[in-house]
Amino acid sequence: MYSTDRDPLLLTPGPLTTSLRTKQAMLHDWGSWDAAFNRVTGELCRQLVDIVHGADTHVCVPLQGSGTFSVEAALGTLVPRHGKVLVPNNGAYCARIVRILGYLGREAVELPFPEDCPADPAAIEAALLADPAITHVAQVHCETGTGILNPLAGIAAVVARQGRGLIVDAMSSFGAIDIDLRSLAIDAVVAASGKCLEGVPGMGFVIVRRAALEAAAGNCHSLALDLHDQWAYMQKTTQWRFTPPTHVVAALHEALAQYREEGGLAVRGARYARNCVALIEGMRGLGLRPFLAPEVQAPIIVTFHAPAHPAYDFKAFYERVRERGFILYPGKLTRVETFRVGCIGALGGADIEKVVAAVGETLREAGIVLGAG
Ligand SMILES: *Cc1c(COP(=O)(O)O)cnc(C)c1O
Repeated sequence: MYSTDRDPLLLTPGPLTTSLRTKQAMLHDWGSWDAAFNRVTGELCRQLVDIVHGADTHVCVPLQGSGTFSVEAALGTLVPRHGKVLVPNNGAYCARIVRILGYLGREAVELPFPEDCPADPAAIEAALLADPAITHVAQVHCETGTGILNPLAGIAAVVARQGRGLIVDAMSSFGAIDIDLRSLAIDAVVAASGKCLEGVPGMGFVIVRRAALEAAAGNCHSLALDLHDQWAYMQKTTQWRFTPPTHVVAALHEALAQYREEGGLAVRGARYARNCVALIEGMRGLGLRPFLAPEVQAPIIVTFHAPAHPAYDFKAFYERVRERGFILYPGKLTRVETFRVGCIGALGGADIEKVVAAVGETLREAGIVLGAG
């Protein structure tokens, strides 16, 4: 059993393991009209824009809800009702964007790629050339369904060359993998509190080009998800339009202080990259193979093939690993049986070693012996 003096470690891509300081930041109550709270929101927004170097061109619009709410809000606000969106699709979160567009009644064109291949900028450019009616491209940066990294700079370059808008779901990369809005032409970057920034879940945010947001008044089908309305109200009052997730905001503000103390994006990204390498090496030693080739693997979450052994059952495996103090994540692929292990959160190399040891003990206990990976 894991020791009861702490929660099991979350090896998942959000919610994830947060620091004690971040949890302690939630031990207060705030009023939504209170100037001190609204100052925190303002600071938070400025800091989030700075992480992607957008201060001269972009603004941050925070939104209540999980990350998907912000993705839906960005699409519903920025894509006009008669717009048409190209969705390069190599995984579950790309497919979710296609579903959202269906709900919104915005036309979508899917450009499929195999789940183990990054989206290809040349194919995206060809699709844009072939269809001048496409107004926007909606691209997932790190596809968390597998852990693959899509080549954002190349994609941004072709989308800009073809004069279309680019909306990026950077949910699982924001804060750990560099996105520089000074050099990349991106209309909107969507992310959330509870991923690489190591806050708790409950709010998303969209870093949106000010001109694109200003032009988007009246586009949105939904009051609650209208980013233009949220932003305009916040500009006027400094307050959130509707009840803010006060504890989540406070926790994210505190998490960002720790992010800066750690050394910001480069240092956080390097810690996750070390976690990722240690995880893959350790699991290989147990005979577990990663699904992706190393050159396309983002240092965020790793998909492993399920052990090819008749005694393996994910639920039992999950439960036994959980008893040892670690929470894994199921796979999201339909063709092959997999499971996933996150590299993000308030975790370091010693934690990864312990996870690998727990997985090894669990496999041995179940009589699952594998050849070297
Ligand atoms: C986590 C995540 C989302 C949002 O998922 P929620 O369950 O709504 O938080 C969207 N896109 C990607 C790529 C993600 O990793």
